[in-house]
Amino acid sequence: MARTVHVVLIYQSLLGIYGDRGNALVIERRLAWHGFEPRLTIVEPGDKVPDDADIYLLGGGEDSAQITAVRALIADGGLHRGVERGASVLAVCAGYQIAGTTFTVGDRDTVIDGLGLLDVTSTRGPTRAVGEILARWEGRTGDDAWISGFENHGGHTRLGPGAKPFARVEVGVGNCGDGTEGAVNGKVIGTYPHGPILARNPALADHLIELALDRKLKPLVRPEITELRRQRLRAARR
Ligand code: GLN
Repeated sequence: MARTVHVVLIYQSLLGIYGDRGNALVIERRLAWHGFEPRLTIVEPGDKVPDDADIYLLGGGEDSAQITAVRALIADGGLHRGVERGASVLAVCAGYQIAGTTFTVGDRDTVIDGLGLLDVTSTRGPTRAVGEILARWEGRTGDDAWISGFENHGGHTRLGPGAKPFARVEVGVGNCGDGTEGAVNGKVIGTYPHGPILARNPALADHLIELALDRKLKPLVRPEITELRRQRLRAARR
């Protein structure tokens, strides 16, 4: 019987305005293609966050929604327990910022505690980063190493010693214009691109599955996805 892989998409009503829900659909579909039984749970504020998930997904959102989300997640504790149990996490944009140690919001730059899953801090940047982003995934070679997406964030993020950059920016801003994009700590990956990022970069979806299950997957190439990647990479390089 196929192994069930449990994916939890967190707080669509707060962290769902940039279409990052598509990441859950990509993981679901690729799990099925790889021969697993996907199980998707969409958790809203007020629901318990299951702590038995294999993969957690957090998306982008506005500053005020981010505060509500982070406070609810800290109070709930399910995501933290899930990570301790070995789940992988993809946190995009606002999700990435709240996964860090602190972030600031508002004209007074009020400092808000994050989840502490990544050693990064976010503060208001000099200008909003908006546009196509192209980056090279650290430690990867070949065509899969190109990460493309769309960034749209006012916050800028700096890495502490406990976080490694996820990628190196070729086009766009990424973390804060220092050439780094995103951060990694163990099985937790934070990154800025929407797209959704897993639709544009399915190798990252497979990587999250591999991290969660502690095993390698067979390569899975689909011509329509290769074509989508070709188009998006060309658009970003323009
Ligand atoms: N509110 C955050 C910022 O502007 C995140 C935005 C987003 O998720 N796209 O930095």
